[in-house]
Amino acid sequence: MGENCMEILRQIKYKPARVVGGYTDRILRVNLGTRDISVQGLPPDFKDKYIGGRGYALKIIWDEAGREARYDSPDNILVMASGPLGNEPGFPGTGKFIVGTISPLTDTFIDSNVGGHFGPLLKLAGFDALAVTGVSREDVVILVDGDARTIGIAAAPVYDKKTDEGALSFGQRLLRDSNGGEYSDSLAAVTAGQGACNARFGVIHSLFFDKKRQRIRSKQAGRGGTGTVMRAKGLRGIIVRSSLSKADGNNAVDRQGVRQAGSQLRKVIAKSDPAQLHLSAWGTTVLSEYMDKFHIFPVNNYQYGHSPDSSRIFASVFLDRYFSKNIPDGCYYGCNLACAKGAENIELTRGPRAGDRVDIDGPEYETVGAVSCMGIFDPHFVMEYNWYCDEYGLDTISTGVTIGFFMECVQRGFLSAEDIGYELNFGNMEVVVRLLPEIASGEGFGRVVGQGVARGKEWVAGKYAARNGTSEEAVLSELNKFAMEVKGLEFSMYVSRESLAQQGGYGLALKGPQHDEAWLIFIDQVYKEIPTLEQKAAALKWFPLIRTWFNATGLCKLHWIDVRNPEAANTTEPAKNLPTLAHYIRYFNATTGSNKDLDDILDDSERLYLLQKLINLRYGKGTRASDQVPLRAIGPVYFNEYESRAEYYDEWLQEHLGTYGLPVSAEERHKLLLEKRTESYQQLCNLVYEKKGFTSDGIPKRETLEKFALMDEQAGQLLSEFMV
Ligand code: SF4
Repeated sequence: MGENCMEILRQIKYKPARVVGGYTDRILRVNLGTRDISVQGLPPDFKDKYIGGRGYALKIIWDEAGREARYDSPDNILVMASGPLGNEPGFPGTGKFIVGTISPLTDTFIDSNVGGHFGPLLKLAGFDALAVTGVSREDVVILVDGDARTIGIAAAPVYDKKTDEGALSFGQRLLRDSNGGEYSDSLAAVTAGQGACNARFGVIHSLFFDKKRQRIRSKQAGRGGTGTVMRAKGLRGIIVRSSLSKADGNNAVDRQGVRQAGSQLRKVIAKSDPAQLHLSAWGTTVLSEYMDKFHIFPVNNYQYGHSPDSSRIFASVFLDRYFSKNIPDGCYYGCNLACAKGAENIELTRGPRAGDRVDIDGPEYETVGAVSCMGIFDPHFVMEYNWYCDEYGLDTISTGVTIGFFMECVQRGFLSAEDIGYELNFGNMEVVVRLLPEIASGEGFGRVVGQGVARGKEWVAGKYAARNGTSEEAVLSELNKFAMEVKGLEFSMYVSRESLAQQGGYGLALKGPQHDEAWLIFIDQVYKEIPTLEQKAAALKWFPLIRTWFNATGLCKLHWIDVRNPEAANTTEPAKNLPTLAHYIRYFNATTGSNKDLDDILDDSERLYLLQKLINLRYGKGTRASDQVPLRAIGPVYFNEYESRAEYYDEWLQEHLGTYGLPVSAEERHKLLLEKRTESYQQLCNLVYEKKGFTSDGIPKRETLEKFALMDEQAGQLLSEFMV
């Protein structure tokens, strides 16, 4: 593979390990600085303790990344790992793998789960995980060829400028050239684009050949700047090849049990999804309408939860105008929820590539939300924004939230056209199209935007303070109210202020406010299934643990969280969807030969969760101070936001005041509302910390770590530094 189109700088021969019970017990190690390539065998108990996926990434980073490691240090490690349950076409949603590393946005551990064929093929080529260290002096590509039994580092090929700058274009060309000019589903690649060289929120694309559409498709490890790390290492792409059969590729201990669990889950999805969100028809864009209806849509930097214009970007518009219909859209074989919608031959009407016709994967709900965050409601713009971000290799969420933040800075007078070089206002499509290539190339104001919200607010504070002779601290404290980031990561696309549980879901999430740790907004605000503080706090312990398990095992969560099994109604806690979870546990046991129950799985996850917490502590993001959310995440910060739903807020306030009367003036009611909301958030933090075995400062107690055998020398020293 690749020898005929790339200069091989280093290559080794190896014997691919056979997958047994979901594992190969091998990690592929590549040091790009020294060009060392090695295969590490894992001790038998490693998988018992760290499961796979996120667990492997956490353990490697905990043990090997130094305290001073930053995203671009040679000792930062870029880990890609599936899990024991990845790669089983007989069970839905098994194409996921995890990319874990130290983030350029949060300066602590980030992971992002991503679909496609890369994780399964890496496993078939003999590896549970790939760990890349070092920094290469020149741009390179890693080639893992299970068929030829070689692993190599090659000089990255140089094509034309347009192809070289694009994450999609470069990856498509790489995959074709590596296989004699033809696409094949025995190959998959990950790539990062030009944007990842210049912005902190560069993504990693997972590219695979879709036989039905006869083209390369893309899913993204989108959050936290994993692509930025990849390019900082001088790594342009990784290709993996294996022609081994994907069917029964895990060599499950009990194949019949795997088939039964898979067929039962597929039946639940086939029957229930069409009657519920119907993701198989609409994709995740279906959420926009719900979010707008319940005031959760992040309009104008989360100022408003809905807009009269929102319906212009609801799912029906994309289905009618763009999505190719009647094509099963699973991002890996065997998924009948098939939410990965896409469109072909769409003409770009704006930006540097106007006039080109392109294939687009998406949009997903998050991209639609990000566009509404910039006050834009044009469906064709959504498609274009989706494609440009993908091609440049930028996270659609962080890009939209950061631009939305700067738009609000202009709206509130903290920034002017003079600071930026042009007008930047909500709803301005042309200016966003101008900004995207600037972010990707690190030019003009794009260089500032590419730093993300946390660093962007400091830049604004500096400018404003210098111009007005005020203190930077004072400006920052005002900006902090609407700068939608926690721990350095931009919020994902849900207005959390009417859901206390989701406020916790964002603030307490270890990686920062990405909903994949605790997406509680539906069960809290829409279904009202966790009304009490006690229930919300319990949910903030239980759901992140289950979600951690999905990220450790190589599974997509949507079949569990987005399709409620009808039998769940007969359980005491329907929101947990336990009858569906039971299929997953059967699948795990049948694959690995274990005999675990739900409690075992929760314990396994808690060990990983605590390990991540320790890493956060090590990098300065592990205490209560790092769990605080901007005021906008918990209430209407400015009077205009309060006024837009005054009656609703007054009612909420009255409920919380009990027999006390409401203040007479609207300004006083607004002020009191924010005080009460802040109080509730702090009470929630207290209760969640208690349930998790943490101190009131959010630090794990020694006995909590001891329970999970995590109290090693490093952990002990770390806790001592925090006087625990
Ligand atoms: S539900 Fe969507 S994201 Fe999950 S495996 Fe299926 S296609 Fe991929």
